[in-house]
Amino acid sequence: PLAALEDAGLLRTQALINGEWVAGPGSFAVTDPATGRELAQVPNLGRAEADTAIAAAANALNAWRAKPAKERAAVLVRWQQLLVRHADDLARLMTAEQGKPLAEARGEVIYGASFLDWFAEEGKRIYGETIPTTDPTKRYLVVKQAMGVCAAITPWNFPLAMITRKVAPALAAGCTVIIKPAEATPLTALAAAELAQRAGMPAGVLNVLTADAQQSIEIGQVLCESDVVRHLSFTGSTEVGRILMRQCAPTVKKLSLELGGNAPFIVFDDADLDSAVDGAITSKYRNAGQTCICANRIYVQAGVYDAFLEKFAAKVAALKTGNGFEAGINVGPLIDEQAMQKVETHVADAIALGARLLAGGKRMEAAGGLSGNFFEPTLLADANPQMLCSREETFGPVAPVFRFQTEADAIQLANATEFGLASYFYSRDIGRIFRVGEALEYGMVGVNTGLISTAEVPFGGVKQSGLGREGGRQGIEDYVEVKYLCLGDI
Ligand code: ADP
Repeated sequence: PLAALEDAGLLRTQALINGEWVAGPGSFAVTDPATGRELAQVPNLGRAEADTAIAAAANALNAWRAKPAKERAAVLVRWQQLLVRHADDLARLMTAEQGKPLAEARGEVIYGASFLDWFAEEGKRIYGETIPTTDPTKRYLVVKQAMGVCAAITPWNFPLAMITRKVAPALAAGCTVIIKPAEATPLTALAAAELAQRAGMPAGVLNVLTADAQQSIEIGQVLCESDVVRHLSFTGSTEVGRILMRQCAPTVKKLSLELGGNAPFIVFDDADLDSAVDGAITSKYRNAGQTCICANRIYVQAGVYDAFLEKFAAKVAALKTGNGFEAGINVGPLIDEQAMQKVETHVADAIALGARLLAGGKRMEAAGGLSGNFFEPTLLADANPQMLCSREETFGPVAPVFRFQTEADAIQLANATEFGLASYFYSRDIGRIFRVGEALEYGMVGVNTGLISTAEVPFGGVKQSGLGREGGRQGIEDYVEVKYLCLGDI
């Protein structure tokens, strides 16, 4: 699929350190999850290269943070424009290595790029304050300064947007960055870095280290243990988030963590059912169910339970699964065999515990050049809290539907998890919208919509779903330190 790139220069197979493209001591393969075919080999870097990248980022820091925000913004805006101009090629790279349908991949490119111009502007508005004095001989000032060298460890489900959402506020604030993209999706990250170079990013300001799963652990340790790296931003599983948090304790590093979710999607009796069905389809099956804000548990009130299931089942059955490069495909492959097994386990467990299978339910046969990574869009009715799919994030195209009786029950069920990232509910009752919106213990609540992400708003979770917010006015706060200046002898 990569032979079709309009700009072959975007297929970068070296890592970027200090403005130079570098090979490694070894390499690892990037494969297409839809076909199992190898796409490219990229450098398998480790501790030595991580140290070099940290030194490069430290070296570049003073000049970058000393620039007026407007000059840094100009680089970010040029980068954003290049990402948009090359959206088709970036989408091809993304679909090839990640599997999502081409239209979704293109959507992610535009969404990912939008963090750059948003934070280019926010970087100009990192305002300080003056505090009224209580001592006539003194004056109190507060300024905000760039944190310093930052590290970003990103997942494979959004190969571009999870990078720009971290890197854009860091760079806009005057920090320099080292990115360690997911081992499954380094090609999108490297193409984005190539465009950053073309946009005029100074050497050392943005570095990308590629590594396989094992070497990623080594690089993670170096980044966490470094005194020079002042901030670590991570998106991925809660399990790995805890490891990184522990590793960052000795250097008391500032952390932004966007971890797992277990999103409830509640449909009340007074909901617009067609809208709720559409919202559930997009929230659940987007990216084949592999987003941390995908509806994981669908709760439907007794009065509309059967009607909802009937409409929902018809839409699930109409979803087309296949290679994301083909027109009209809604659901692509899962990322790997491990993901397939988790989905299979969740479905088998639910059926054993009494769920009714209304659609899908099994892996598709590997045929016609397709790999074994495709799972049928699946709908399970009569789910209950004992099932694995109620307690864990399935991260696949499986929708378990639960029946509930009262508003209080729905809130209690929805909050009965250690996670608190996204939640959704459908109701047309204004009082209920406020009550439920306030009662859900989640960082984000979608009301009558299944799509909530955009660069202008604070994305993030409570409880064990993470720390900090990405995007929005709030997204830049993690990348600055507050400094208080006390002026005496006035
Ligand atoms: P996912 O479930 O999305 O694969 P992970 O949390 O396993 O999430 O991985 C997300 C990112 O974290 C990837 O870039 C991966 O290489 C990296 N990673 C995984 N384990 C570690 C670790 N122990 N230390 C540092 N990085 C890690």
